[in-house]
Amino acid sequence: MTQTALSEIGEFGLIDRLTKGFTTVNQSTKLGVGDDCAIMSYGDKVDIVITTDLLVEGIHFDLMYCPLKHLGYKAVMVNLSDIYAMNGTPKQITVSIAVSAKFSVEALDQLYEGISLACKKHSVDLIGGDTSSSITGMTISITAIGEVEKDMAVKRSGAKPNDLICISGDLGGAYMGLQILEREKHVFTKTGSQSPKLQGYDYVLEKQLKPEARKDIIERLTKYNIKPTSMIDISDGLSSELLHICRRSSVGCKVYSDKIPVNKNTEKVATEFNIDPLTAALNGGEDYELLFTVDINDFHKISMVSDVCIIGNITTSNEGENLITKQGEKIKIIAQGWNGFSH
Ligand code: ADP
Ligand code: MG
Repeated sequence: MTQTALSEIGEFGLIDRLTKGFTTVNQSTKLGVGDDCAIMSYGDKVDIVITTDLLVEGIHFDLMYCPLKHLGYKAVMVNLSDIYAMNGTPKQITVSIAVSAKFSVEALDQLYEGISLACKKHSVDLIGGDTSSSITGMTISITAIGEVEKDMAVKRSGAKPNDLICISGDLGGAYMGLQILEREKHVFTKTGSQSPKLQGYDYVLEKQLKPEARKDIIERLTKYNIKPTSMIDISDGLSSELLHICRRSSVGCKVYSDKIPVNKNTEKVATEFNIDPLTAALNGGEDYELLFTVDINDFHKISMVSDVCIIGNITTSNEGENLITKQGEKIKIIAQGWNGFSH
């Protein structure tokens, strides 16, 4: 039998291939594989949303520059972000860890301090997990469970032509933060210099090391009585997430490059690294902002929601997925975000 390399089909290709033979047989399973969370239904008031994420040392985090407390915090945040991306409210998490002998008890205390801080901030209960030894390094797997009012869950699949494409916060910061940390790690391994140059980079470093799941945005949308037609959180970069929405919703999109929000601090660091800030926003991952679409009739309401920008609109699928540059040039959007098997 021929052996196909994982890099040939990529992360999403692999998930599709492995899961395509599965159908759901339980009535309580309302939505299975393919969104930020699965949806389960047991009563007529609330639905349950559930998500899980795996973080592997050396792949998702580097303990040379990621303090364990921050890692614990971030590991929870990335899961809560998926709950919010369904328009849900996170309620519980389980945390499973595999750790090698290189970690001390005190180091793991630090990890759990970060986990605890994240739980407190979002009123989430730690309800269980599993602990194992590992041969090398650390692996953390967190599952988050949330509630969403019946029929209020927002999937990736509901966008329709003319919907407005919205985004919370600003993009590219986490990626530029990573570039700073990688640069200083490189200096350290080359010269042994113990004084990393991190001053003045607070904004992007915080975006990378201490991302915030956007509970506030979900609360504001509820307050203004806006139910997005589709939503996803930005873990892999705007391009990749736009394509997920378009493919799941069978639509196209038109996004205006000059509308994509990039913070001044991010721009400055990008320029220092000779990276186009727009590239960082489109392809850099880990911003954990929310990308969502709203009906055009909600234009006035969404304009009142602070820290949300409208970056374009949904089109029919035959128009494709396009980025419109400042000069009015049309560029096809392609996913160059993070792919676990491509490097
Ligand atoms: P996210 O970026 O929001 O965490 P992923 O891209 O990791 O989502 O996953 C996409 C979808 O595929 C999700 O519904 C997820 O639950 C599902 N999935 C990912 N890996 C597997 C797997 N190994 N087996 C079954 N389902 C999976
Ligand atoms: Mg997600």
